[in-house]
Amino acid sequence: MDLRETEEQRAVRADYAQWLSDFLPADYYDKYADYRWDYELRKAYQLASFEAGWLQPAWPREHGGRALGPLEALTVRLESAMRAAPKLPNIQGVGVVAPGLRSFGTSEQQERHLVPVLRGDEWWALGMSEPGAGSDFAGLRTRAVRDGDRYVVNGQKIWTTQAHESRFATLYVRTDPDAPKHRGISCLILDMESPGVTTRPIRMATITDETFCEVFLDDVEIPVTSVLGAENEGWKVAMSSLDHERDMIWVMNWVEISRGVREVQKRGDSLDDHQLVELGRRMADAEALRMTGYRSLTSSLRGDRSKEFFILKLLGSESLQRTWELAATVAGADGLADGALAFERHDALAATLYGGTSEVQRNIIGERVLGLPKG
Ligand SMILES: Cc1cc2nc3c(=O)[nH]c(=O)nc-3n(C[C@H](O)[C@H](O)[C@H](O)COP(=O)(O)OP(=O)(O)OC[C@H]3O[C@@H](n4cnc5c(N)ncnc54)[C@H](O)[C@@H]3O)c2cc1C
Repeated sequence: MDLRETEEQRAVRADYAQWLSDFLPADYYDKYADYRWDYELRKAYQLASFEAGWLQPAWPREHGGRALGPLEALTVRLESAMRAAPKLPNIQGVGVVAPGLRSFGTSEQQERHLVPVLRGDEWWALGMSEPGAGSDFAGLRTRAVRDGDRYVVNGQKIWTTQAHESRFATLYVRTDPDAPKHRGISCLILDMESPGVTTRPIRMATITDETFCEVFLDDVEIPVTSVLGAENEGWKVAMSSLDHERDMIWVMNWVEISRGVREVQKRGDSLDDHQLVELGRRMADAEALRMTGYRSLTSSLRGDRSKEFFILKLLGSESLQRTWELAATVAGADGLADGALAFERHDALAATLYGGTSEVQRNIIGERVLGLPKG
C-alpha cells in the first residue's frame, strides 16, 4: 500500500483545516485546557461541522457529510484529531448510534432520529453492559416480553455513559430466553423519558464530563416499531456498533498519545536515557497506530475482513496508558500538583476497559487473527 498522501487527500485536508481555523476562537490553542471543557463551544462545533459537511465526511450532505471517499474521510478525521478540534459532546451519538441507524434503521427510524443525533439536538446512550454482563455481553439478562404491539422491559444496565443527559438509548434486551445466548437478543430504541426508567449517575473519582450511570427498567413499555434491526438479531447490531466504537476509539487514542508525547517532549532536557527510549517507543507506537489504521481501511476497501482492525483497539489503548504513565513519571513531584496531568493519567486507565477490555481484545486476536482454538 502506498501511504503517501494523494492530491485529493491533500486538498480535502487543507479545506478542512482552513474551515476549522476559521471556526475556532483566536485564543483556542493558548487556552486549550479551558476550551477542552467548554460544552457550548463543543456543541457549536458539532452543529457547524454538520452544516459544513465535516461531521461524517463520507456521508451525503443531508447527513452531515460531503460524500467523500473513505481515505479522504479518514484524512479529515486524523486532521481534526491532529489539530485538537473540539471533542463532540456526545461522541457515541455521532460515532456509534448514527452509523447503526443508517445500517439497521427503518426509514421511519432514520427520518425521526438521524438528523437530531447528528446535529447534537438529541443525545444518545449505549445500553449494553449489565452488572453480570460486561465482557460477556451475550449473558445479558434484561428481559423484554412482547405484549401485543409493545414490549414490557425489566432489568438493569450499568456504565451507561451520559444516560442522565440522553434523550434515547440503544437498549439491548433478551427477547427469546430459549434461544442460544447470542440469538435471543434484540436492540430496542429506548425513549429515556418513558415511565419506569430510572437513571442514577455514578459519582466519579476524577473530573470528567462523561458521567457513568446505572439505568433501572421497571415495566417499561417500548413499541415494537422501536426494534433496531430485526427481533432477536440484536447481536448483529451490537457487533456492528462495537466495530464503529473501536473504529472511533483508535483515532481518539492516537490523538491522546500524540498529546501525551508532546507533554513529555516539553520536558525533553530532563529525560534520562531510559525515558528517552520510552519516548521513542511511544512515538513509534503512535505512528504504527496511524499506519495500521490506514492498512485496516485499505484491506476493508479491497473487500477483505481487515485483520489489522482487530489490533487497533489493543495497540491504541495500551500505548495510551504507557504514554501518560511516562508523562507522569517525567513530571516527577511537580506532576502530583498538576490536576490536568493527573486527569489524563486516570482517564487513560479506562481505555483498556471501554469498547472491550485488553484481555478480550487478545482473545479476539488469538481466535480471529492467529486462528488459535477458542479458550
Ligand atoms: C469509560 C467507560 C465508558 C463506558 N461506557 C459504556 C456505555 O456507554 N455503555 C455500556 O453499555 N457500557 C459502557 N462501559 C462498560 C464497558 O463496556 C465494560 O466495562 C467492559 O465491557 C468490561 O466489562 P466489565 O466492566 O463488566 O468487566 P468484566 O467483563 O467483569 O471483566 C473483569 C475482568 O475480567 C477480564 N475478563 C472477562 N472476560 C474474560 C475472558 N473471556 N478472557 C480473559 N479475561 C476476561 C476482563 O478483561 C477484566 O479484566 C464503559 C466502560 C468504561 C470504562
